Amino acid sequence: MFVDSHCHINFEGLADRLPQVLDKMREHAVTHALCVSVDLETLPSVLDIAARHDNIYASVGVHPDHEHMREPSVAELVELAKHPKVIAIGETGLDYYRLEGRTIDDMEWQRERFRTHIRAAHATKKPLIIHTRASADDTLRIMAEERAGDTGGVMHCFTEPWPVAERALEQNFYISLSGIVTFKSAADVQDVARRVPLDRLLIETDSPYLAPVPYRGKPNEPAYVSYVGRFIAQQREMTDEELAAATTRNFFQLFGLQTPAGA
Ligand SMILES: [Zn+2]
Ligand SMILES: [Zn+2]
Repeated sequence: MFVDSHCHINFEGLADRLPQVLDKMREHAVTHALCVSVDLETLPSVLDIAARHDNIYASVGVHPDHEHMREPSVAELVELAKHPKVIAIGETGLDYYRLEGRTIDDMEWQRERFRTHIRAAHATKKPLIIHTRASADDTLRIMAEERAGDTGGVMHCFTEPWPVAERALEQNFYISLSGIVTFKSAADVQDVARRVPLDRLLIETDSPYLAPVPYRGKPNEPAYVSYVGRFIAQQREMTDEELAAATTRNFFQLFGLQTPAGA
């Protein structure tokens, strides 16, 4: 059995055909998924899906790309995280990919927002879901300054080279790989897939984005995390079952949940 550690099934294209999405998960032995929040405006749809389905969990956070959405405070994140299905804070982090004429100095609002999330993680003792793009040094620096390692968490949709993974592992973080690992051009990610200690590895879809081969370019959904898992098993020369069991165990361990029978 596989677990999708990061998806957005409350987004259009998935939310409107949720029964089929959940059926397909079952067909592909994907037993659980974490539906990740990207802003406070759409958080109710995340919490609603998680409340209605035993095998779907939720997080609370505001994505670094969602610039003009309502800014969360530590107190507000802490309050929202009291929902019984909320198991993590995020997604949060830094994204300098689209600076659009600005400099990194202009992105202080992102760094402040990131610190707010780390402080909420401390207050709730829940792990962080961290997004980093074109910003690895600042991401790791702020994690260290704010002691993100106290709660730990996951570097999601990881696409940085191995030395960055090593620095995140040193800070008590897991590494989660998406369908990008199956792309021909993703030599760096495949290298990371082979080197991450098995007890720190997670898998995800980030659906509806980033469908793995053989669905590359098509809409993605949690069922396809099975392709991500099988590809990584091949890279590590282990069986699909071993890879599935390890990443599933890691998911329940990181988020402080009881591992279900059969995992
Ligand atoms: Zn992300
Ligand atoms: Zn995401």
